[in-house]
Amino acid sequence: MAKIAVFCDFDGTITEKDNIINIMKHFAPSQWEGIKNQVLQQEISIKEGVGKMFSLLPSNLKGDLTDFVLENAKIREGFQPFVDYLAEEDIPLYIVSGGIDFFVAPVLDKYGPYEAVFCNSSDFSGDTIKILWPHSCDEKCDNNCGCCKPSIMRKLEAEDTLKVVIGDSITDLEAAKKADFVIARDLLLKKSKELNLNHNSFETFYDCIEVLKKLNEVRV
Ligand code: MG
Ligand code: ZN
Repeated sequence: MAKIAVFCDFDGTITEKDNIINIMKHFAPSQWEGIKNQVLQQEISIKEGVGKMFSLLPSNLKGDLTDFVLENAKIREGFQPFVDYLAEEDIPLYIVSGGIDFFVAPVLDKYGPYEAVFCNSSDFSGDTIKILWPHSCDEKCDNNCGCCKPSIMRKLEAEDTLKVVIGDSITDLEAAKKADFVIARDLLLKKSKELNLNHNSFETFYDCIEVLKKLNEVRV
């Protein structure tokens, strides 16, 4: 009987919108858009792009940025019931996020519990914001992910664990390829179809509960 583990994205999954994009739209000088486009066209890595975008922002904005995300981030419906369901069933919930600690942690603190939260961290001691990468790619990934979701999965789970990945975007794709089951929306849904991954779509976390219930029944 395989144990289930859930790996859940943050931006665009737990929150309805991408918080880094929203921060940049609101606070950054216009160069950020050029950097974003370079990332989307895969001319530079996510790691390089995110680092460069935050280096456009002065460190003294820290409080404003955190307040902005706390005020504007909308949590997807059913998130706390989903967290509760997993806790009841003893299924570990790992949050794996390409977001930054200073806004991920305060948003997640209102919900929980989680088995662990993985995201990038930040240094506000210089003139501009510096992003730190405590979960960089291991030797099996050369994608320069920033927060490397497949590396985290490799580190955490035994071979026989049934790995479920929940996400919305291209940044979840490498993790989704390693998963036994994917719960996807938006671009990740499209990719999951194209690649014939085992998947379901979702709009709210109530949908995710239904999928997990089914997987949990099959497992027993
Ligand atoms: Mg996302
Ligand atoms: Zn990686």
